[in-house]
Amino acid sequence: MQHPGRMMDRPLLISAILEHGASQFGEQHIVSRETQGALHRYSFSDMAGRAKQLANALQQLGLRPGSVVGSIAWNNHRHLEAYYAVSGSGMVMHTCNPRLHPEQLAYIINHADDEVVLFDTTFAPLVQAVAPSCPQVKHWVALCGADALPVIEGVPHVHAYETLIADQSSSFDWPECDEKTGAALCYTSGTTGNPKGVLYSHRALTLSAMGACMPGVLSIWSQETVLPVVPMFHINAWCLPYAALIGGAKLVLPGPRLDPASLYELMETERVTVSAGVPTIWMGLIQHVEQHNLRFTTMRRTGVGGSAMPKALIAKFSDVYGVDVRHGWGMTETAAIATMSTLGAADSALPAEERHALVAKQGKSVFGIEIKLMDENGATLPRDGTSQGELMVRGQWIVERYHKAERSALVDGWFPTGDIATISPQGVMQIRDRTKDVIKSGGEWISSIDLENAAVAHPSVAMAAVIGVKHPKWDERPLLFIVRKPDQPLDKQQMLDFLTERVAKWWLPEDVVFVDSLPLGGTGKVQKNELRQRYGHAFSGE
Ligand code: AMP
Repeated sequence: MQHPGRMMDRPLLISAILEHGASQFGEQHIVSRETQGALHRYSFSDMAGRAKQLANALQQLGLRPGSVVGSIAWNNHRHLEAYYAVSGSGMVMHTCNPRLHPEQLAYIINHADDEVVLFDTTFAPLVQAVAPSCPQVKHWVALCGADALPVIEGVPHVHAYETLIADQSSSFDWPECDEKTGAALCYTSGTTGNPKGVLYSHRALTLSAMGACMPGVLSIWSQETVLPVVPMFHINAWCLPYAALIGGAKLVLPGPRLDPASLYELMETERVTVSAGVPTIWMGLIQHVEQHNLRFTTMRRTGVGGSAMPKALIAKFSDVYGVDVRHGWGMTETAAIATMSTLGAADSALPAEERHALVAKQGKSVFGIEIKLMDENGATLPRDGTSQGELMVRGQWIVERYHKAERSALVDGWFPTGDIATISPQGVMQIRDRTKDVIKSGGEWISSIDLENAAVAHPSVAMAAVIGVKHPKWDERPLLFIVRKPDQPLDKQQMLDFLTERVAKWWLPEDVVFVDSLPLGGTGKVQKNELRQRYGHAFSGE
């Protein structure tokens, strides 16, 4: 007979993260760019007090454990207070992506059953557009003081956040709910069909945030200053708003100013040491830094994910600017970081080129997550670094079924990610493509990610995207889109010559299209669907 463990059974709760942050690092700072532009500063314990005021206010509005509160907001201090107040009260914090089409936004607000929606004043026009389609929302709360409260014609019950919480007590007894209760809800970007909701439990978020704090992941602790550029409406900013309070790190929130000049200034003035965001943000930042001949004084590490980080950019960050790139992989369904490309002691001694190539892969699964590859027939593929198959994940912060879905999303207990990957014998995973983006040419696969990475290594290229285009002979052929850097001459032949030295001949794009910009989706990723719609038949004459 086995012996029962004789340890306490304390639940992993979001309220416990807040209480820990406030009691152990109460003086630690939170700096937040207000939507109106000024910087707001206060401490963890100030934030905890205001989160409790909000919890009392929500209760007074008639909300109860299980109620859902939506947010359409930037990364700022009021949004942070809502993260803790809502989940801490046993309610569900539903973060909405403001870049969704209003119809999709209304769909997710209704699907989630939001009763109250918090919004930044920037998004007042969006609220006006969706409110008539969301009759079950009883209150709309603008994240501002009474002086900045927008008048939204036709929308009743619009409150100013500051007025709502002003007279509330800063004491609140957090309910002790089951750690498996839903705490936050985030919908997938929904490139096909309606967005699908992923309801994160307190347990999943806490474990994921603790994972982010680990030294081999982002190393979030009390000597760091963390700037999450990744939005709080996209997978809870990879759980960094929780990780900062767990580790006791200073938290810097950029508000609506996500342009490279503002981000650089914030990093320097607030002495940011760790940041996190999608590659497009870092491309813009590096261009700004290069153009103005700047350096990073304090930044030593940046987490990157959401799409593949090109090797050329990793090299620049590391060799020119001394910033260590932590390239991770995850998706809405994995509540943030699932794998991370951390270098081991032996890897650090590798020649620069090999080190950067390793970091350009998506790395090893973090503890709590397991990964494997599956072929079309459901068989597990070997971890040999070359066999490609669909990446399957399972673990403590992976979705089991979508919100309100009747059926599980799993296949034999594993979640099929829709990503095509390889895994090396050492466990290093590399994303080769999305199942829908991979290019099938003459029966073989071409990785659009590899081609894009090869193209952005050219010094005149700012951004690159590759799609598969129907072809009468080869089924599909790659088409390359290039955004040139300002004032950089580059023609098709020069681009193809450059690629010839870097990729197999049959991988060479069939054509190169120079564009002023690429269509970016709500989370900063290139919308390949849009490119496919416009150019998908470019070679077939259809
Ligand atoms: P989302 O749920 O919107 O965050 O999208 C998740 C998808 O982004 C994944 O399934 C991948 O296709 C892609 N993705 C995330 N991180 C990476 C990465 N480091 N490299 C390549 N693709 C990535």
